[in-house]
Amino acid sequence: MFLIMRVITLGTAGMAPTRNRSLPSILLDYYGDVLLFDVGENTQRQLLKAGINRNRVSYIFITHWHADHTSGLPGLLHTMNANQANKELWIIGPKGTKKHVKAMLEAFEFKPDLLKLKILESSPKRVKTIFKTPLWRVIAAPMDHSIPINAYAFIENDKWKIEESLLDKSRLSRGPWLKQIQQGRSVRIKGRIITPEMVARHVKGRKVVVIMDTRPNNLAISLAKNADIAFIESMFSHKHLDRAIEAKHLTALEAAMIAMKAGIKKLVLIHISQRYKNPGVLLREARRVFPNTILPRDLDVFSVPKR
Ligand SMILES: [Zn+2]
Ligand SMILES: [Zn+2]
Repeated sequence: MFLIMRVITLGTAGMAPTRNRSLPSILLDYYGDVLLFDVGENTQRQLLKAGINRNRVSYIFITHWHADHTSGLPGLLHTMNANQANKELWIIGPKGTKKHVKAMLEAFEFKPDLLKLKILESSPKRVKTIFKTPLWRVIAAPMDHSIPINAYAFIENDKWKIEESLLDKSRLSRGPWLKQIQQGRSVRIKGRIITPEMVARHVKGRKVVVIMDTRPNNLAISLAKNADIAFIESMFSHKHLDRAIEAKHLTALEAAMIAMKAGIKKLVLIHISQRYKNPGVLLREARRVFPNTILPRDLDVFSVPKR
């Protein structure tokens, strides 16, 4: 297990797989908590190739129920259920998720018995926290596509980092009380109230954004605000804007505009169409607006450095 925060592009194709690209799935490993954003066909084999034990997947966030984003789900559930007893697995998606999971299980005559499925359905109207653990949270916002769809941002909890110089100045000795300070809580020591600001520096949590199929919209910009890294679909070149409008997708240029307006650090283009034999055109187009753009391959690993 790697004790870091990293993202792996398991699948970077859009609509149809190619020889080199699998259907959409983005994996986030946060110190051992493994989240998937979408589960396109072939996600299981991509997990194997990435060296991630599939039983470590505990949270599956579905952006929307188009088959290119969900066709890998039944197979993954089937194998996980056969492998692991009492494993809790969250499936979180937009309105309709409960119905879709039920229909899918019925279609495959499959009743998970060992796998403890937890399903959460949420279609917020604005940017909103929809899922929380003690260490991180996921916020979501609706996007503009042909069916209900969420975009997601993973946000690590803010932390307080003890500053040696401030601690020296306070003339307090180290002790277990510093743990509370690190969690942002004040403590009372010998009648004196010590606030986090007095001995520590506030460090904002890291933010990773996944925006799949959509037309440009303001909620995408608010959701992605100041992200460390954003994975944004870029199905078309701006030359094919008419097609992008018709199919409700982004062009590479539009993905870059979202990145620029949101003030993110790094943009990774995903959902790459087979239409472009040389997807370098998408990369060049995006870089004209947002230079720190990357066109990934499947199984690329992105570490998210500490702030
Ligand atoms: Zn799609
Ligand atoms: Zn779609």
